Amino acid sequence: MKYCPLCATDLKIIDVDGTQRLSCPSNDCDYVYWDNPTPVVAGIVELDDSVILVRNVGWPEKMFGLIAGFLEKGETPEEGILREVREELGLEGQIQDFVGYYPFYELNQLLLVFHVRAAGEIVLGKELEAHKLIQANALKPWPFGTGLALKDWLEARKE
Ligand SMILES: [Zn+2]
Repeated sequence: MKYCPLCATDLKIIDVDGTQRLSCPSNDCDYVYWDNPTPVVAGIVELDDSVILVRNVGWPEKMFGLIAGFLEKGETPEEGILREVREELGLEGQIQDFVGYYPFYELNQLLLVFHVRAAGEIVLGKELEAHKLIQANALKPWPFGTGLALKDWLEARKE
């Protein structure tokens, strides 16, 4: 962000209550760019006895992750993840559990991760390029983002 969205003045780094923040320097405007984390819903989606991993359009060939997306205005996180499962996989899902929340500091996001059981035929949405089905005991969680939720989920399953 470069310009104030309220008055179009060039934003500057200004001390706000002891923290340096990108803010509007105009005396007539008190805009502060807080840069708060964005909530993102993600799903460990099980179909039969496998978990669905997906590759978004534009991701490197070998990179797969969980289904994830931004909330729509007015939507609960549960509604959001079930909508993503419907839109991106063409499946009807049912929430099994809330796995937990995971700060993803690199992307300034707060991930809300659910375990979802799904049924139907997979039809990939236009944001996805590929998918794979992996049995839970063969999953290898990646050490960042949604991978941390997957790791916790796998460990809880073993108990
Ligand atoms: Zn301003």
